[in-house]
Amino acid sequence: MKALVVGAGLAGPLAAMALRRAGIEPVVVERHGPPNPTSGSWFTVSPNGLDALAAVGVLDLAKGLGVAHERNVLVSATGRELGTLPLGSPLADGTPALTMKRSELTAALVDEATRRGIGFRWNAGLETARRDGDRVVATLADGSTLAADLLIGADGVHSPTRRLIDPGAPAARYVGLTNFGGITPGGSALLDGPDAVAEQWRMVFGRRAFFGHFAHPNGDVVWFVNVPEPAITPQERARTTDDQWRWKLIALMEGDAGPAARLIEAGILELAGDNTHDLGHVPTWHRDRMIVIGDAAHAPAPSSGQGASMAAEDAVVLAQCLRDLPDIDSAFAAYESRRRARVERIVKTGARSSSTKSPGALQQLMLRAIFRYAVTPKNTAWMYDHRLCWNETVTTTR
Ligand SMILES: Cc1cc2nc3c(=O)[nH]c(=O)nc-3n(C[C@H](O)[C@H](O)[C@H](O)COP(=O)(O)OP(=O)(O)OC[C@H]3O[C@@H](n4cnc5c(N)ncnc54)[C@H](O)[C@@H]3O)c2cc1C
Repeated sequence: MKALVVGAGLAGPLAAMALRRAGIEPVVVERHGPPNPTSGSWFTVSPNGLDALAAVGVLDLAKGLGVAHERNVLVSATGRELGTLPLGSPLADGTPALTMKRSELTAALVDEATRRGIGFRWNAGLETARRDGDRVVATLADGSTLAADLLIGADGVHSPTRRLIDPGAPAARYVGLTNFGGITPGGSALLDGPDAVAEQWRMVFGRRAFFGHFAHPNGDVVWFVNVPEPAITPQERARTTDDQWRWKLIALMEGDAGPAARLIEAGILELAGDNTHDLGHVPTWHRDRMIVIGDAAHAPAPSSGQGASMAAEDAVVLAQCLRDLPDIDSAFAAYESRRRARVERIVKTGARSSSTKSPGALQQLMLRAIFRYAVTPKNTAWMYDHRLCWNETVTTTR
């Protein structure tokens, strides 16, 4: 069986490697060139996502790129600690959540998939696709066509495949936050007291923006700023320099507790003016041997810290269903019944945590109560402690 995978972000290479393990021959098409490991921002892969990487045999690769992320500490604008967010139980081998540069992980996954003999076609965007008997025929931007037994749209939150499957499919929703990220080389020298503790994200509910920093054990400090504001237009992004963005961010954080201004002033911007989207209920995930996975089907806001993990879990479960069930339609149906409730619950959780980032949205007292009584290891275990078993046989009933 041959599969055409659209998109070489996270879900695409992972799905391709999982399919290969299931005895299916994948080829991946990506509208851009090969990933640049030095671009973009940092992120965290939770234990449930790491467990899915292990099922594809790439956990060691993630461990080589990431550093332990032990906790998230939440702080008010005045510096008062509001609570600590649980990040789930470590894996059986002791690996906790890992923080790393997203593009480094993407590039490493592509390298590993290539090493395993999986073909990638770069600068090859999907234009359209249609079912032709037992095949799906895809047309690429250069006019060439590719045929396969099935097509997997791993093409991100603005997925063209989603619209091919259902022209009425919902578009991604702007959640009301713009996102900036950067790194301050040697920035640990600018930190003191609780701000200097390594391997934790320390996040400030500022008066005008939400700020987080992570002291890397190598002495660098990674940071991000979420700004509640209307979406930034392409024109505004094109005419604004990095220095102008940095001065804007410094002004927004002025008067708040924490090292934001120092770190941003001495830092390098790696992500500027990214509009944050999510995608909740997509009624139709599959039709005519085409299916969407990852952000293309369900995108939790970055605040959930779960988008990459969901993409990894999707890749594994879809490959298991295709491996074990007799035909593609029943495999797609079994996949959906295993994934939909979980991923939609996570999108809702991410939307809730995004909304608390708007200053004044919730009083400090209420935030402290939420972190103490609602966001506990027990209450979040369903999300972080979820584990997959590659050797488990999928049946239509289970
Ligand atoms: C700022 C930020 C911070 C984040 N932080 C975290 C975090 O801490 N933890 C976490 O788990 N998640 C986080 N996420 C979310 C996570 O990055 C995504 O959920 C994840 O990348 C989804 O993977 P994906 O492969 O589905 O989509 P993507 O990574 O978006 O990949 C989609 C790919 O499809 C390609 N494509 C699109 N259209 C076509 C086409 N027509 N033809 C061919 N290729 C196409 C794109 O070029 C892209 O390479 C964050 C996201 C952002 C934006």
